[in-house]
Amino acid sequence: MKTDHAQQLIEKEITLPSPPAIAVQILNTVQKEDAALGELVKIISADPALTGKMLQIANSGFYAVKSKVTSIDRALSVLGTNVIKNIALSFVIATDLREEKQSGFDFDDYWRRSVTSAVAAGLVAQQLGQRDDDIFVTALLHNIGMLVIFMHKKSEYSELLHESIITGQSLITLEQRTYNFDHQQVGTVLIKKWGLPESISVPIGFHHNPESAPETDRVTAQILYLADQLSAIYNETDTAEKVRLLQGELMEQYSLSPDQIRLLLDDVAEKSVEILKTFEIEPGDMKPYSEMLQKANEELGRLNLSYEQLVIELKEAKEKSDRLANELKDANVRLNDLAYTDVLTGLYNHRYFQDNLNSELSRARRYNSSLSLLIFDIDHFKKVNDTYGHPAGDQVLKEIATAVQKTVRPSDIVARYGGEEFAVLLPETGLKGVKVFAERLRRSVEGVITVAENRQIMVTVSVGGTTLGPEQPEVTKDRLIQTADRGLYRAKENGRNQVTILKAPLS
Ligand code: GH3
Ligand code: MG
Ligand code: MG
Repeated sequence: MKTDHAQQLIEKEITLPSPPAIAVQILNTVQKEDAALGELVKIISADPALTGKMLQIANSGFYAVKSKVTSIDRALSVLGTNVIKNIALSFVIATDLREEKQSGFDFDDYWRRSVTSAVAAGLVAQQLGQRDDDIFVTALLHNIGMLVIFMHKKSEYSELLHESIITGQSLITLEQRTYNFDHQQVGTVLIKKWGLPESISVPIGFHHNPESAPETDRVTAQILYLADQLSAIYNETDTAEKVRLLQGELMEQYSLSPDQIRLLLDDVAEKSVEILKTFEIEPGDMKPYSEMLQKANEELGRLNLSYEQLVIELKEAKEKSDRLANELKDANVRLNDLAYTDVLTGLYNHRYFQDNLNSELSRARRYNSSLSLLIFDIDHFKKVNDTYGHPAGDQVLKEIATAVQKTVRPSDIVARYGGEEFAVLLPETGLKGVKVFAERLRRSVEGVITVAENRQIMVTVSVGGTTLGPEQPEVTKDRLIQTADRGLYRAKENGRNQVTILKAPLS
């Protein structure tokens, strides 16, 4: 579409805004070749706010002036008329068009992007060896068509902007479909009408498709196109993907090295933050790309660290739970011991004896081995208590227990069966063996001298016993005990302090 035709279309629908008064003055002044310098200084100096901003920009990293610029005079001689004019125009226009606060269009975001684009364009031009004093203001205004369309179409245009973001369709396509013109063309028409040179207005018309630009303006259009992408990196999401695409383009089409690209990327953010401040625009959390990368890596490092920390903590927790489990096991063993131990004598108690007799019995049956049982009872123990007192009787019980425990093999089980009645379970011991052992036991008790209250106490025991031989697997636990008991009873009957071993089973 020819610009003239576009202009007709645009002017039919849109009243193009006039440039700010100071902008007109500045533009008029620089057109008058001879008087230009002095008058430009006068116009700018008349506006203290503008003067302050001009000096800030002149001293910013963007222009990298060696000595500090403290006056507009000095700024002019250092930076040249053209640069000063463009900086002044940028401020004047941006300030003027920023006043509008209306819903449906994020003016702050618009100017943040525009200023970032302007800074980026200047840096790209430098990087590509293109000296272009107009590039800052060109890039700053390259999307001005969007502002103008919005001012006329309001909700319709904000819906269009929204649709472009949601669907990913190019804004240019949507604008053309809706209005038969796009913001590039509106920008060109407006800038031309404002009297700015064609070197500014024409490239603006091709910033989305620089390859279609007339040859004289193609490089500038390309710079605008790249500047737009750099600005998007810092003002939109999907940063990494945008960086990747731009890197490819800059390497292939402009032969920039990765180092040059990295510097360019970082420079855009660093200098934009500075320039945004002079435009009184919040830079947000704009950070150089390498700093963003470093942050991301640190975050990753922290994650790794906390992962390692987690592993250590888990290990410690496991060790602790293992330790607790062991302690619990020990405690259970102790509890079991308690449950199975007779407190006075330290021997196994009646319960343990019963449990153990069961398992020893089935083992004897399984392996066809012998199992012997002895039950012994202290003779006339009542008399001991009566004569020496109950505590002395306890002492006697304890010492007998110790003596018997010393007499048995480790595999034998000695238990306190009742008050002054004990049982010994002798696995793999036959009739002959148990007779010998029972006699030894009786004698060892006979030898025990308990000293209590300066008196020597000696007691005897009567022992009854029986043996389960391999030939009698059917004998039950109860029958075994009854038989041993019977033996004990007989020993008592026969005069005490003696052994009676009976062959099981008894009928
Ligand atoms: P026998 O020769 O017939 O067995 O006579 P005995 O006196 O030993 O028998 P009896 O069953 O008449 O008495 C048992 C005594 O054992 C009665 C009880 O006071 C005493 N005795 C039982 N348990 C304990 C104990 O834990 N400590 C003390 N000191 N005495 C106990
Ligand atoms: Mg655009
Ligand atoms: Mg007794």
